[in-house]
Amino acid sequence: MDTTTGKVRSAPVIGGGIAGPVTAMALQRAGIEATIYEAYDGPAENVGGGMGLAPNGFQAFDAIGVGDAVRAVSTATSGLVLHSWNGKKLAEFGTLPGIDPTRFVMRAELFGALRQAAEERGVPTVYGKRIVRATEDADGVTAHFEDGTTATADVLIGADGVRSTVRRLIDPNAPEPQFAGTAGFGAMVTVADVSPTKGWMHMTFGKRCFFAWQVFDDGTGIWFVNLPVPQALSVGEQRERGAAYWIEHLRQLCSEDDTPAEQMLAATDPKTMLFAGSTENMSPDVTWSRGRMVLTGDAAHAPSSSSGQGASLAAESAVELARCLRDLPLPQALARYEELRRPRVEKIIKETARTNARKAAGPVARVIRDALLPIMFKLAKPESRLWQFRYPIDFDAPVA
Ligand SMILES: Cc1cc2nc3c(=O)[nH]c(=O)nc-3n(C[C@H](O)[C@H](O)[C@H](O)COP(=O)(O)OP(=O)(O)OC[C@H]3O[C@@H](n4cnc5c(N)ncnc54)[C@H](O)[C@@H]3O)c2cc1C
Repeated sequence: MDTTTGKVRSAPVIGGGIAGPVTAMALQRAGIEATIYEAYDGPAENVGGGMGLAPNGFQAFDAIGVGDAVRAVSTATSGLVLHSWNGKKLAEFGTLPGIDPTRFVMRAELFGALRQAAEERGVPTVYGKRIVRATEDADGVTAHFEDGTTATADVLIGADGVRSTVRRLIDPNAPEPQFAGTAGFGAMVTVADVSPTKGWMHMTFGKRCFFAWQVFDDGTGIWFVNLPVPQALSVGEQRERGAAYWIEHLRQLCSEDDTPAEQMLAATDPKTMLFAGSTENMSPDVTWSRGRMVLTGDAAHAPSSSSGQGASLAAESAVELARCLRDLPLPQALARYEELRRPRVEKIIKETARTNARKAAGPVARVIRDALLPIMFKLAKPESRLWQFRYPIDFDAPVA
């Protein structure tokens, strides 16, 4: 800690997902020494499926000079089309004027690009370090890892995801993510009999489940399903039933809907099927910081996967946290960070909760939804979505 200014000089960043490397690179740029500590034994290879990265996420990546590295591993999309079960178009969301498109990226490639960018900048990542405890005194904070080792610094940053340990170290009564009514499944496929969607992601509010798909010009494609379920379904429970069971089950559930589910499910290799567990909403009642510990990314604010905003909000918060720590003494830095970030992330989390409710709608709610959605979307001006997608960050501008 700088004893004259009260500003921090060093930070262990817990978690090597998205928020972790972005925070550590932003801190390094701010002149604060940062090391990433990741629980897994090595870099995550072949994890997860594909994801959409919103333009606001790129504005955060650009703020610390890693935007092009992420663009290089991702593809621009044209937008989203929403359909009713009978194929009727409910709404279309193209790219907004003056804003970059949302880009599609495989999760493993995104992690890889961020890991490489951190490595190139000399930001160290130490693997096999699972934080279990933290101690704090007037001189600093110490992270205690499961293997008995420790790391001491001025401030400890929890970028350890939606099931964050640091969140519980800050507040032992911290809320846990809550089941949001559906379970997720998906796969990458090669399909000969479904037309390429020209960069558009199609989403259908089906009679019995929500089905989304995109087919690329080379005949590869992705699909994912949100299946309404009465109670939480873990990845383990999904796996237990086996991919072949789910492929057949989803095929039956999608059979009355006007989608290419039949072909895409038939083309799915059970070995590569992705089980995403239950969709979850995170309560906003999370304490973001205490003393010398602070949260960022999903650990602080996880919108459910339906938002398409989790990674982008994680990147935004990571960069803003580094700016605050650069410019303000510790307690003020953490207060200002929360003030800058909370209203925006809570607004997006609320919007996503509404989307989840639409996906899990029963028969009556479905009829109302299908009647109202086209009117709502027709009335809404495209600019009304700009607040979400435009979030430029001038990294060098001082934080007031
Ligand atoms: C099915 C699904 C689809 C999604 N689709 C999208 C999408 O299309 N667009 C989008 O923007 N977002 C999407 N998301 C959300 C997005 O993945 C998250 O918001 C994002 O990964 C958050 O980044 P993070 O770094 O905060 O957390 P994570 O990416 O979860 O990283 C946390 C890291 O911390 C490590 N860790 C955990 N505990 C410890 C510990 N005790 N000690 C040390 N390290 C630890 C983990 O191993 C991990 O590497 C989706 C999520 C899911 C589940």
